[in-house]
Amino acid sequence: MSRLLDGKAIAAATRADVTARAESLTAQGIAPTLAIALPTEDESAAWYVRSLQRAADKVGIRCLVEKPAAADLVGTLDRLSSVDDVHGVMCQTPLPDGLTLAQIGAHIAVAKDVDGANPESLGRLAAGVPETFAPATAAAVLEILRVEGVPLAGRRAVVVGRSTVVGKPAALLLLAENATVTVCHSKTADLPGVARTAEILVAAVGRARMIGADYVSPGAVVIDVGTNPTDDGGLVGDVDADAVADIAGALTPVPGGVGPVTTALLLRNVIVAAERTA
Ligand code: NAP
Repeated sequence: MSRLLDGKAIAAATRADVTARAESLTAQGIAPTLAIALPTEDESAAWYVRSLQRAADKVGIRCLVEKPAAADLVGTLDRLSSVDDVHGVMCQTPLPDGLTLAQIGAHIAVAKDVDGANPESLGRLAAGVPETFAPATAAAVLEILRVEGVPLAGRRAVVVGRSTVVGKPAALLLLAENATVTVCHSKTADLPGVARTAEILVAAVGRARMIGADYVSPGAVVIDVGTNPTDDGGLVGDVDADAVADIAGALTPVPGGVGPVTTALLLRNVIVAAERTA
C-alpha cells in the first residue's frame, strides 16, 4: 500500500507559521492584506473566494474582495497593485469572456503577485530570479515533496500537464531542484510509457482518474494535482488512487493533498510580500 502524503498536516504547520508572522507584522503596525478581484458571477469561484476569506481571517490576514465589472477589471488590478496597504493581489478565474489570464495578470504588480499570475513572474521563475512568487499550486507540489523529504536532485520527474498555472511552473520548480524533468501534454506519444519513467510523477491534467496502474512505476512518488468534481458533489483526482495504491511508493490524496497546501502557501506568500515592505 502506498504511503499517503498528508496535505492537511503540511497546511496546518504552514498556517501556524503564517499566524505567528501575521501577529508579528500586526504588532509592527502592518496589517497583512490580500485583495482578490472576483470579476464574474461564477458560483464555484465565489465559493472558493469565500473559503479563502475564511482561511485568511483565521491566520490574521485581512482579505478584501472586489467585484469589478469586466471593463473595470484592469483598472481595479492597477489600483490594488499601487496602494501601500495591500500586499498581495490575485484575480479569481474564470475571467470575463474575451480576456486571458496573461493579459489580466500583467496588471498585477510582480511584488504583489502572490499567485504567480503575471507572465513576468513565470519568466522570472524560469530565469531563476530570487524573490519571485510561483503559482501557489505549483509551489504546493514542491512543498509537499520538500516536507516529505523526497530527494529531487538527479531524479527523473514527469509532469503531466503544461498549463501556465500548474504544469509549467511545477516543471520549472523541479528543474530548479536539479530533477531531470519531462513535461507531457495532450499530444505526448506513449504517455503511459513516458510516465512510467518517473521516480516523481506530477499529474495536472484535469481528467478524473486518468492516471492508472500503467502510468506508474513501482515505488514512484505520485503528486495528484487534479480536482475533478463528481456527480454526487465530491472531488476526485487525476490519479486512479485505487489502481495505483499497490504500485506507487507514496501518493497525495484528493481531497486533502495539494489543495490545502495551495491555500496555505498563498497566505504565506501574502505574509512574505508584507514582510518585504516592513
Ligand atoms: P488545464 O489548463 O486544463 O491544463 C491541462 C493540461 O493537461 C494541458 O496541458 C493539457 O494538454 C493536458 N492534458 C489534457 N488532457 C490530456 C490527456 N488526455 N493526456 C495528456 N495530457 C492532457 O488545467 P490546469 O489548470 O493545469 O489544472 C489541472 C488540474 O489541476 C485540474 O484538475 C484542476 O482542477 C486542478 N487544479 C488544482 C488546484 C489545487 O489547488 N489543487 C489548483 C489549480 C488546478 P494541452 O496543453 O496539450 O492541451
